[in-house]
Amino acid sequence: MSTVLRHARLVDGSTTDVLLDGDRIAAVGPGHSADSTIDLSGYVLLPSFVEPHAHLDKALTVSRSVNRTGDLLGAIHAMNEIADGFTHTDFVRRADAALRIHLAYGTTVVRSHVNIGSTFGLRALAALVEVREAWRGVVDLELVALIGHPILGEAGTNLKVALAEGADVAGGCPHLDPEPIAAVDTCLGIAGEAGVPLDLHTDETLNPGMLTLEHLADRVLATGFEHGVTGSHCVSLGVQPEDVQRRMAEKIAAAGMAIVALPQTNLYLQGREHPVATPRGLTAVRPLLAAGATVAAGGDNLRDAFHPVGRGDALEVGALMVTDGHLSVSDALRTLTEGGRAALRREPVAIEAGARADLVAVRAVDANEALGAASPDRFVWSGGRLVARTRVDTQLATSLDGEVAP
Ligand SMILES: [Zn+2]
Repeated sequence: MSTVLRHARLVDGSTTDVLLDGDRIAAVGPGHSADSTIDLSGYVLLPSFVEPHAHLDKALTVSRSVNRTGDLLGAIHAMNEIADGFTHTDFVRRADAALRIHLAYGTTVVRSHVNIGSTFGLRALAALVEVREAWRGVVDLELVALIGHPILGEAGTNLKVALAEGADVAGGCPHLDPEPIAAVDTCLGIAGEAGVPLDLHTDETLNPGMLTLEHLADRVLATGFEHGVTGSHCVSLGVQPEDVQRRMAEKIAAAGMAIVALPQTNLYLQGREHPVATPRGLTAVRPLLAAGATVAAGGDNLRDAFHPVGRGDALEVGALMVTDGHLSVSDALRTLTEGGRAALRREPVAIEAGARADLVAVRAVDANEALGAASPDRFVWSGGRLVARTRVDTQLATSLDGEVAP
């Protein structure tokens, strides 16, 4: 089955035709015919989006929980208060609903952290494994075992169990551990033994004294850990002096690590102890990019105690990478596409012959409007198949006595 996409606008402003054949882009340029044709006049075509950091097990629970302090510990407490009540069916239904939201907006690759241990036990993982398998071939869902602490205690054992029970990636929160440095070493060691990537919630705090990221980068450089390491959040890097940010960024680039920026949740949870001139809860995005490090951006929490709002739309995150991270539109878009694929070690996707046909077309005249207006009017392809289509139909009364039909 082949499809030709006609008159697609690309990020560089040019328009072209794109021939899809099987799961690949077969050709780019005019003059091709195919089994079917889609006219993309008025749409911008991009690689589909990657969500490098979700929490599908917690998604869509905001109406059930109360974050009394509004900060990270308040959110963790609020989630633990309600987690006992999460049934298998509830986990599956909410994760499935969240994936549908992401897919409709054009996200075809999702890495979700899944709480392990404490009130969650292995229940969330069992449900998310079911969801992962149900969506295989449409959405590429990868699961990170997010263990509690202390990591030197039972939580470390839980990490091994979770990886044996279907988690794809090792994870944890060393910055919340009584022994943060030992926690980093333990997680890296377990990931290495299992031969899986490591994705740590890292320094999710504005306290500049908490900088486990540097130890993590040093250990990756020293050990040559080869399965892929991601530092998620890395908020405290954003409040270091410029020379420290530069040195760290160079080290992270040399280590081949990826950093995932999560502006929504971090802007919401961080900075509440600074009511005046509140600092931005965001990692050092620009120094990282300048050093050549891999930077991806994600949505983190979708309407739960950690972030009570959000659409599940990568373009919402991308707009914040412009507003809060001071990136250009094209750099911000890259954190949603290229950056995410590099962080998750997926095959790169570009609008060129031979690339995998994982694509999204957004109704817009150009890339600025695609990101700025973020129309939900989109086409989404996964492996060359059209897997989502949202239409928007707006009617306006344009004169004093005009009225639109209900
Ligand atoms: Zn997270």
